[in-house]
Amino acid sequence: MPLTALGSSSASGPPGPRRDTRPGPVPPAATTAATLLLNATYEPLCVVSSRRAIVLVLAHKAEPVDVSDVFCHAELVALPVPVVVRLTRYVRVPYPAQVPLSRRAVFTRDGSTCVYCGAPATSIDHVWPRSRGGTHSWDNVVAACRRCNHTKADRSLAELGWTLPHPPVAPSGSAWRLLGHRAVDPRWRSWLGLAESVPA
Ligand SMILES: [Zn+2]
Repeated sequence: MPLTALGSSSASGPPGPRRDTRPGPVPPAATTAATLLLNATYEPLCVVSSRRAIVLVLAHKAEPVDVSDVFCHAELVALPVPVVVRLTRYVRVPYPAQVPLSRRAVFTRDGSTCVYCGAPATSIDHVWPRSRGGTHSWDNVVAACRRCNHTKADRSLAELGWTLPHPPVAPSGSAWRLLGHRAVDPRWRSWLGLAESVPA
């Protein structure tokens, strides 16, 4: 089964004619939540709407792994809204060589704290200033607080006498691919290989 078969643009209900005006099998309340979708191997794949996850479960394309205490009343059954679902068949997914660089992903990598002083991070700093040719790349961006970012301005670390606790590097792995784009439900953490204390 190709991954595109799981997209939200395809049919959102079970097969068969539906010509009446009753609500569909998945009530709108379930559409506002998000569900972590795992491959058959339990590898995190992507985040889908809970409505989409319920449709996958009803079609036996996925099985619930973790559920919320909110129930969704489908036509003949009442299903707990899934928090995490796992595909019943393995799908092969080509991953990009590198995690997309985003503010949220950098904050996640750096624990949402300033790499220079440990205060809560509020901005992204380019270690080698962009005005001096520094690149917007994983090995040149760090999370920083406003004060350090302002103090540092267009100077290099050597000019300031500052040091980094460790060189910034690009994160790797499929779980990181998810974190750059969306807030993380705390109940997904164990599936994403994240410690409970790591802010997302
Ligand atoms: Zn700072």
